[in-house]
Amino acid sequence: MSRRLTRSNQHFKKALTRLPLGVTSNFRYWGADQTIYVDHAKGGRLWDIDGNEYIDYRLGYGPCILGYADERVDAAARDGMDVGGVFALSTEREYTVAERIAKMVPAAELVRFSNSGGEAVMAALRLARAYTRKDSYVMVEGGYHGMFDAVAWYTPMKNWDPSQGDPVVTAMSEGIPELVKQLLHMVPLNDANRLEELFKAHGDKIGAFLIEPMMGNCCSITATREYLHDARELCLKHDVIMIVDEVKTGFRVARGGIQELMGFKADLCTFAKSMGNGYPIAAVAGSEEIMRLIGDKVLHGGTFTCHSVSIAAAEKTLEILDETPALETIKDYGSRLRQGMGAILSGRGIPHSFVGDPSMSGLFFSEEPPQNYRDWARTDYSFYEALAPQLHDRGIICEPDSREPFFICEAHDQACLDETLDKFEQAIDATIKSLTGDSKHVAC
Ligand code: PLP
Repeated sequence: MSRRLTRSNQHFKKALTRLPLGVTSNFRYWGADQTIYVDHAKGGRLWDIDGNEYIDYRLGYGPCILGYADERVDAAARDGMDVGGVFALSTEREYTVAERIAKMVPAAELVRFSNSGGEAVMAALRLARAYTRKDSYVMVEGGYHGMFDAVAWYTPMKNWDPSQGDPVVTAMSEGIPELVKQLLHMVPLNDANRLEELFKAHGDKIGAFLIEPMMGNCCSITATREYLHDARELCLKHDVIMIVDEVKTGFRVARGGIQELMGFKADLCTFAKSMGNGYPIAAVAGSEEIMRLIGDKVLHGGTFTCHSVSIAAAEKTLEILDETPALETIKDYGSRLRQGMGAILSGRGIPHSFVGDPSMSGLFFSEEPPQNYRDWARTDYSFYEALAPQLHDRGIICEPDSREPFFICEAHDQACLDETLDKFEQAIDATIKSLTGDSKHVAC
């Protein structure tokens, strides 16, 4: 292997003197020797400051759906720059983009823009509480909705013993008041009975059911159609607002997101990543009756909302996703990537399955795909964790954590696919060897 990270390692030491962990998001820190600093990226590829070239399947955790530095979007963003920035006033373009979103996603009768996915979810939760006048809310184990206090909770699975009951709901960080947890309930995905029991017991206090139906932060484990339709009914019955977090799936898994794929309508939904091909913009959208509370009783806004560069980028990105076969191209690549990887794994007798949509595939080392986070926890993901660094060393970037799917962009082309499969095969053999000392067989 030829990859050197000399400059990245040097820069890490310097960065550490001014930046906690030497980075600007905890997840960008991969250890003192492995933290990479980017020089530039184009299409489906990225170059680090040591000159190493990578085919990137993280794409900034999903946003760059057309590819890095897409010329069509960047030209629109440059036009947006000429508009002037932020004004503490609105522009006509906001209507145009809201109109496009409403066309693509029928549930999005009204739209409000935010800067990030987390902000959009925060607004959705506030709206749901204001509308129902009920403060408790439900989240799904394994889901991720951002970093604000209300949603930064999870169920650590490492030492979970199913015979002891549900996994313990735990804050993702110190500094989050335990008080917040008093309003939160967590349920496992794909268990409508559990949801019904919860609503029957506490429905008079629960205002929102917040769900990411294809968990883009958990191997793309996906809610079944039946579960989503049951959940939809239960929310209606118990006066609970169904918030569908499409920050990762929106405008990616279908033009109308997961709601189109599964044939249901949210009360409120949130979008971010694919909306602007990487420019910072997000949206909360939903039924007119709920959304009209904004400005009446509900506070929403922000200095940087709808910066003229971001909204111009969103206008062009959504136009491309809506009017060209970009999504079909992405799905086709994703399917061929699955087939190629699957053949390599099957050829070596390695049990595996792919989860989620081909545009954001979870790779899972078990024949049975998981139905929820509890299933994921019961499986052996150590093979993935050993494989990821082997891929990085060969110039393929995937997330070191097996819970993040492989994201595909329109710019991933045949050359990317051929190179990825070639290197995947090498990485698999090297992983087997490192784990067993035998390059021909692995039991996992
Ligand atoms: N919701 C989902 C489903 C996400 O995947 C994320 C981020 O990964 C968020 C919300 C938070 O978005 P942001 O990081 O833009 O605040």
